Amino acid sequence: MTAIRETAEKLWRGELTTREQHPFTATGELEEIAPKVAFCRWLANFAVCKTDEGLVLIDCGSYLNQEETLAKVRSYSSARVHTVIYTHGHLDHAGGMGPVAAEAGRNRVARPRVVGHRAIAERFDRYKRAPQYHWRVDALVFGAEAAFPTDFVYPDTYFDHQLNVVAGAEKFQCHHARGETEDHCWVYIPSAKVLCTGDFFIWAAPAAGHPLKTQRYARDWAEALRAMAKTGAEILLPGHGSPIFGAIRVRQALNDTAEYLSKIHDQALELINQGAALDEVLHSVKPPAALADKPYLAPLFDEPEFTARNLWRVNCGWYDGVPAHLKPAPQAEQAREIAQLAGGFERLVERALAKMEEGALAMACHLIEWAAMAAPEDASVHAARARIYAARAAQSESTLSYRIFNAAAHESAVRAGLTLPQSGRRF
Ligand SMILES: [Zn+2]
Repeated sequence: MTAIRETAEKLWRGELTTREQHPFTATGELEEIAPKVAFCRWLANFAVCKTDEGLVLIDCGSYLNQEETLAKVRSYSSARVHTVIYTHGHLDHAGGMGPVAAEAGRNRVARPRVVGHRAIAERFDRYKRAPQYHWRVDALVFGAEAAFPTDFVYPDTYFDHQLNVVAGAEKFQCHHARGETEDHCWVYIPSAKVLCTGDFFIWAAPAAGHPLKTQRYARDWAEALRAMAKTGAEILLPGHGSPIFGAIRVRQALNDTAEYLSKIHDQALELINQGAALDEVLHSVKPPAALADKPYLAPLFDEPEFTARNLWRVNCGWYDGVPAHLKPAPQAEQAREIAQLAGGFERLVERALAKMEEGALAMACHLIEWAAMAAPEDASVHAARARIYAARAAQSESTLSYRIFNAAAHESAVRAGLTLPQSGRRF
């Protein structure tokens, strides 16, 4: 058994968990997983398919290691790249196109056709308008140091709903659906019975709630997964993490993930229709326990609570139902008022630390934020804030919570002149 298949088998059986090997782990393994179809386990995975007309790539890796990605492709075949299909415009999937296009120029062969959903153009335009913001997000979430790109290889072949990409005798069926992004597609290769899911499947709870990104679409996402389950695919190549081998397993993973999202969606909508405020939705909606226990649905990157927020946003807008929040006083003014009522920001710090000792970390964070906003220059406030967020980060299972809380801990540690121990955890 090859290394990729062996890992896939262990993950499915629970002999290896995604907590031990996070889906974002870029092992760099590249193997032929079906005749003429190779898969690379990368930060965001990609596939390389051999056809009589040249190679077809499904995704092309991140902007952070573009030359390495091309070298991976070349370790499998030296044939001309005929087409690159973007599953979506996120730059861990569609950021590696530059060297592929440049290579075609050097070799004096036709530049590869680039296929993607129509909304990818608007995404790249948006990235160009806010590069510093996106650089900060990638630095926060992935620890990226390189500057965010300002130049992109746009698709030259756009589609809206469905497109059959033909290369030689092979067909690549591209199906658009909204999910993690509005520009997503999943790709089915009928001759190999291989399904490339993009980020509709990532070996973790779907990233349908990301706090730093634009709107995501849990309901459409579930429908797309059900459509994928009907293809009869025998191999699932996910956007992140390990493949799944075997038609029964593939169908189960897709349908379970669809059900997971549907249940979250239905609970949120029921509360919304009953007139609940956002607060009640956030604290009531839970994924079904039987599904949350599946090895491919652990909240390792995103969290169901964030998905509930996005369901609120897509159905209701941003007003959370609390009238004071419609046109709020500046938070620093609110914090100074609360600190005065408490008898000084020092009382808030004491109470925050007491709450931390009790294990009430969410409340400890509220209290210390009020203290920090009331006395932003006070070193003792930041010393406490660093401890509290370090504890919160340590308790966070998802990458997004971990990285955001950890950044807050380090920000305050610097301001308090402290050195926090390195956890060694990346995601
Ligand atoms: Zn991704």
